[in-house]
Amino acid sequence: MLLTGKQLAEIKITALPRIGEKRARLFHKIGIFNLFDLLYYLPKRYEDRRVRGTLDDVESGDVVTVQGRIENIEEIKPRRNLTLLRVSVCGNFGSCTALWFNQPFMKRSLRKGLPITVTGKVERNLYGYEVSVIDYAVGNFKNPVHVGCIAPIYGTTENLSQRSLRRIMYRCISSYANRVKDLLPPELRSELRLIPLSQALKQIHFPVDFDSLKLARDRLVFEELFLFETGLSNIQQHIRKDGVVRLPKSSLPEDFVASLPYTLTRAQQQAVTEIKRDLSSARRMYRLLQGDVGCGKTVVALYALLYAVAAGYQGVLMAPTEVLAEQHFLGINRLVAQLGVRVDFLTGSLGKKEREQCLEYLQKGTTDIIIGTHALLEEEVAFANLGLVVIDEQHRFGVQQRHLLLSKATSPDVLIMTATPIPRSLTLTVYGDLDLSVIDELPPGRKRVKTYFMPSSKKNRVYRFVKKELEAGRQAYVICPLIDESDHLDVEAAAMRYKELSQEFSDFNVSLIHGRLKLDEKERVMNAFRKGIIDLLVATSVIEVGIDVPNASIIIIEGAERFGLAQQHQLRGRVGRGNQESYCVLIGNPKTEEARERIKILIQNHDGFQVAEKDLALRGPGKMLGTKQHGYSDFRVVDVFRDASQFLKIKNIVKKTQPLQNDNELWEEIYFRFPSLSYGLKI
Ligand code: ADP
Ligand code: MG
Repeated sequence: MLLTGKQLAEIKITALPRIGEKRARLFHKIGIFNLFDLLYYLPKRYEDRRVRGTLDDVESGDVVTVQGRIENIEEIKPRRNLTLLRVSVCGNFGSCTALWFNQPFMKRSLRKGLPITVTGKVERNLYGYEVSVIDYAVGNFKNPVHVGCIAPIYGTTENLSQRSLRRIMYRCISSYANRVKDLLPPELRSELRLIPLSQALKQIHFPVDFDSLKLARDRLVFEELFLFETGLSNIQQHIRKDGVVRLPKSSLPEDFVASLPYTLTRAQQQAVTEIKRDLSSARRMYRLLQGDVGCGKTVVALYALLYAVAAGYQGVLMAPTEVLAEQHFLGINRLVAQLGVRVDFLTGSLGKKEREQCLEYLQKGTTDIIIGTHALLEEEVAFANLGLVVIDEQHRFGVQQRHLLLSKATSPDVLIMTATPIPRSLTLTVYGDLDLSVIDELPPGRKRVKTYFMPSSKKNRVYRFVKKELEAGRQAYVICPLIDESDHLDVEAAAMRYKELSQEFSDFNVSLIHGRLKLDEKERVMNAFRKGIIDLLVATSVIEVGIDVPNASIIIIEGAERFGLAQQHQLRGRVGRGNQESYCVLIGNPKTEEARERIKILIQNHDGFQVAEKDLALRGPGKMLGTKQHGYSDFRVVDVFRDASQFLKIKNIVKKTQPLQNDNELWEEIYFRFPSLSYGLKI
């Protein structure tokens, strides 16, 4: 029986031979949970390790692959810490000496007379050709996977070697590539001369030559974009039509704007206009409100909520953490208290009585606006007349959760707020079918966060400065370096740094926060920081996005070169929220030109979008958003930069090839592959 991607995703990788729970965990680290993940885990690059007939034309330093028989094996110890295995290999190409350094166990797999293929860096010297082995295979193979072929190079993780990943991949491809169901319409396949899916999957992992590789990639890119564009056009044509016209019956929204102590920026005004138009039209609003930290998204979202309230509906604002929800609640209540709008608050930590009261008000329609966390998703939570859903920092919520919230209303309008700076040209590919409002300016009078770099060796100077700020009554964040993307080690390092700083700053209140703390513990620390009880907060990179503590005037990012630029920019946004001068100091030891360049970008640019664009230019396409691994995009094959030209082409093909509405398997596959396409819409 043939399996769709969705069905393959139901088979866990432990179903493959020789993958137990322990090994499975390594796969989970690289985002592979099931057979669909594995089949579509594409090589990062390929190395041409096809066998050479001769060494005559090679130069020292070239990487070559030769095939022959083992003539002689010799183990020597030129120095105390060095074991050298010298293996002479003879074949049609001539002869060479293959070298293994410090791998004495290799001896066990080698025997005189055995056929061998080695890939390595060649050096021509007195002894003839010496090859420092990179990879090898002993024996004769009809289908070589490591050497003697174009070898795939995958992204791996500690304790999962390139060779074992490759072997497992090969086994998976051999057993399953033929069993994957091709969902492309057959007419299209033949018209565009696309190779069969099974062949494409085999060739993308283990290509026989570079032409086949290209055909395979083209085929998979086509398939992925075809499914994506088909889903997108379906949403645009059908689902968005079920909107409700919401017209305000009072001047509440305008009264709100008039009551603000400031005027809206041009960009905020523009976003408000777009939202107003959506809400009062019969098309379902499905809008992304995107803007740098501190640009004032909350007021715009609040305007939308009040617009819905004035039209006779309830609104909900969901935030990813309790601290953020509470912050929104306090801030929003302050702004609308005089306008006679009832705002309530629901989180998991409400007492039983408060909670029941809250649920009752919601259901009766007493509540106009409810603000809360995941607790809003529970089944008991019911609305009298929910019209608008606002989700803050949506990337923290799973698709399932968004579905749950939206299912509490009929045809709710949806507004999603995010500070993730994604270049405009890419939002569609990342967010699917969302209309876009961008707030691209900060309120006037904001002071720039002064950003500096300091090498680790001069750390002390930085901390002397921190002390001065604390003495002046300010607060500070210290962000500890990321260590090899291991949460566990990060926490350890932060705990150590916390100890040191507690001693160094014994006159002050120093505290620690990291991802492994329990939620209520985290909230407790953040609250104490907000109230000014804690002066210096040592944190791993988990400190909450969106935390607003205006009195914090300085943030130190240690090991800065280990963070992504976007992440550093987000962290920097934690300060500069009050009237005082604020500082961000990057501490580190950038070793490469690129690392130094990245630090320069942050020092010179203060706008998240500019930082993102420069980052993109520096790192090149694909690395930032292109892949599933980064969590921004659902694409596994398509690189949104490299394949940009394909989008439009395939959109046009899709227009002509309307798939059947009742092809359930196809639709299921589309929404399985592109969860972000449907965000919260009920499909
Ligand atoms: P974010 O986009 O990060 O959510 P907020 O909505 O939290 O930003 O706004 C940051 C701060 O800027 C808030 O204290 C808010 O009161 C203030 N603010 C918002 N809009 C304006 C404006 N047009 N003029 C002046 N201050 C503003
Ligand atoms: Mg915010």
